[in-house]
Amino acid sequence: MSKICSFCGNKNFKIKTVQYIYRHDGKFLIVNDVPCEECEYCGEQYFKADVLKKIEKDFMEIYSTGREPKHIIQIPVEEFAEL
Ligand SMILES: [Zn+2]
Repeated sequence: MSKICSFCGNKNFKIKTVQYIYRHDGKFLIVNDVPCEECEYCGEQYFKADVLKKIEKDFMEIYSTGREPKHIIQIPVEEFAEL
């Protein structure tokens, strides 16, 4: 790999899979086991454009064409001022 972390300048990355949370217009999609490269120094994660496009496409299918996702979870929401 010949790239450099745009945050810290480090050149070493490790390949791993992570949980990716896609957010758009107040709607969310969680995708598990998404491949990425993580900077070994600062932990910044880099995703390939085609990986992000796939997630974006899936998001659109679920929210605009009503495709059933694998799972649906409920997420608790709080206002900080009320805690
Ligand atoms: Zn870095």
